[in-house]
Amino acid sequence: MRVLGIESSCDETGVAIYDTDKGLLAHRLHSQIDLHAAYGGVVPELASRDHIRRLPLLLRETLEVTGLVMGDIDAIAYTAGPGLAGALLVGSSVAEALGVALGVPVLPVHHLEGHLLSPLLSATPPVFPFVALLVSGGHTQLMRVAGVGDYTLLGETVDDAAGEAFDKTAKLLGLPYPGGPALAKLALEGAPGRFRLPRPMLHSKDFDFSFSGLKTAVLTAATAPDFTAADRADLAAEFQAAAVDVLVAKSMAALKHTGLKQLVVAGGVGANLMLRAELDAAAAKRKARVFYPELELCTDNGAMIAFAGALRFIAGERGPAEDGCFAVRPRWSLQEITPPA
Ligand code: ATP
Ligand code: MG
Ligand code: FE
Repeated sequence: MRVLGIESSCDETGVAIYDTDKGLLAHRLHSQIDLHAAYGGVVPELASRDHIRRLPLLLRETLEVTGLVMGDIDAIAYTAGPGLAGALLVGSSVAEALGVALGVPVLPVHHLEGHLLSPLLSATPPVFPFVALLVSGGHTQLMRVAGVGDYTLLGETVDDAAGEAFDKTAKLLGLPYPGGPALAKLALEGAPGRFRLPRPMLHSKDFDFSFSGLKTAVLTAATAPDFTAADRADLAAEFQAAAVDVLVAKSMAALKHTGLKQLVVAGGVGANLMLRAELDAAAAKRKARVFYPELELCTDNGAMIAFAGALRFIAGERGPAEDGCFAVRPRWSLQEITPPA
């Protein structure tokens, strides 16, 4: 079965084809970074319009590199939420229209389920059950994952998401959008420890996070009268170290609590190399393993949507019979979804 995946929840347009026998055949991505950079963040209306422009091109390219034609597609999966309503509607409308034209089933997919299952696409995948640390631009959650759609929330951020904290802190330090990668790069030139930032909720004895205080502490340090441009790298390094310390400590606590030995990291912040190094080191100490998606599949992409859809199609799930394309869910908790019907 060949599943076409379409992602358009935010500022990345992604298209992919996943073959349930052969694996991922191809994926194509267009990032709108340049489009939004001048505004310092994503402008929803511009995002929707660009998805409309890009989707047909990406579709054609994806088919071309796989040597397939539209008629070879057996099913379609698209991101139905959470995300920007207008952006989601573009992907859902294209998916539903193609579904009608081709006479194939169309399945709405939860964006975070896509992120969460993306490490299963790698060469050495984890097996259920595992602990998942979902660290993206909009979410920071620790979950126990027993199977597709079987997600038990252990804890989550009570305010900003980790990626959001990276982005906002980067902005405070005068770095360009998107801030996470830029901040990580600047941190390489500095050293943690010269500035002292808090490790919020490190000892809270639960699996929750808080990142907004960290951002405020950065603002206080960066606006001190004696703060110079040369201090920026050290402050960036300390911010990254603080965020990583908390993410690592809570992830290890979640492994201990569940008795599991596999930790899966998903979402854009999972591309952070310091986070990866520290998680690997901490996990090795407790004879546990950490699994990541391929670097290019950490942030938004169509491959994870095609794949999550494929797992549900394999399990026999079919899309809702009616009004699919108006079923986008800009706000949609991962805990609301269920195993394949
Ligand atoms: P969500 O998936 O919650 O809806 P999103 O789709 O915007 O949010 P992702 O695409 O998974 O999130 O990830 C984007 C986030 O990852 C941004 O906040 C970005 O700054 C962050 N990010 C990407 N690379 C890095 C990095 N190397 N270090 C830290 N953060 C990073
Ligand atoms: Mg993005
Ligand atoms: Fe995402």
